[in-house]
Amino acid sequence: MVSPVTESTTAGASPRGGAGASAVNTRGVRLDEVGMTYVSEQGATDAIGSVTGTVVDGRFVSVIGPSGCGKTTLLDIVGGLMRPTRGRVSIDGDVVTGPRRDMAMVFQEDSTLHWRTVLQNVAFGLEVAGVPKRERLERCRAMIDLVGLSGFERHHPRQPSGGMKQRVALARALVLEPRILLMDEPFGALDAQTRQLRQGDLIGIWQRSPKTVIFVTHDVQEAVYLASRVAVMTARPGQIKTIVDIAIDKSDRHVAKSKAFVDAVDEIWGLVRDEAIKAQKARASP
Ligand code: ADP
Ligand code: MG
Repeated sequence: MVSPVTESTTAGASPRGGAGASAVNTRGVRLDEVGMTYVSEQGATDAIGSVTGTVVDGRFVSVIGPSGCGKTTLLDIVGGLMRPTRGRVSIDGDVVTGPRRDMAMVFQEDSTLHWRTVLQNVAFGLEVAGVPKRERLERCRAMIDLVGLSGFERHHPRQPSGGMKQRVALARALVLEPRILLMDEPFGALDAQTRQLRQGDLIGIWQRSPKTVIFVTHDVQEAVYLASRVAVMTARPGQIKTIVDIAIDKSDRHVAKSKAFVDAVDEIWGLVRDEAIKAQKARASP
């Protein structure tokens, strides 16, 4: 997650001392030597080593890395759900100290409220924010339409249908009109076809209303398909190993067959594979 301004590629290679100036000048999400060590009765776990970089406003960045490398931890820190043990996250220079109104999250696990209908789920955040009923309904209906759930307003999201829960979760986040959207493996539980459809929806939504997106995944194709920039993380303690820029035409329906796409997937798969092997060895050792 490195800006074109600094163009450094690894956490360690970030220009020391230069971070402060770019933090003020660059609109976007800035991470400065962010690190996280969990301490529990079982001992200390270094989840994130040190991550430095910027996601410039309006960018769609994927973060990919092996299971357990600290992706969720990093996203929770950016979202203000957790304070890092080292370093800081800032947005336009303001340090993140807790959840912000201009950021919304879509979680890995099912976070829909099963006892509420689709409409009531999407409306939840607006109710909490005290948005009047008429405006709430208008905004929710527009968003439900955007994620392709028109006609399902009164259904319950537990009813299985083409990743309905994920679409509800996405609509619930988007209806808050966030500037920054944080997504943690939102399509991880879907079958391959449904996943592709939902990825296509997300690209369409982003093209119509570009916003800063940080999208965590362990799926290389998904990372390449969605993002204009992919940050590859190392095995735990997670760091940014490499940044790969993706220059492919997202509006081309057959893009996944193009040489540029296949080459990018190959390159990133090679990088992730090395880290996955390291992570596996670390887990296997006593
Ligand atoms: P990922 O999302 O990449 O799979 P996580 O961020 O969930 O990785 O976890 C990174 C590491 O931190 C893992 O080794 C995990 O077991 C550990 N971890 C995550 N949450 C906690 C916690 N609350 N307490 C202790 N260790 C944790
Ligand atoms: Mg995770």
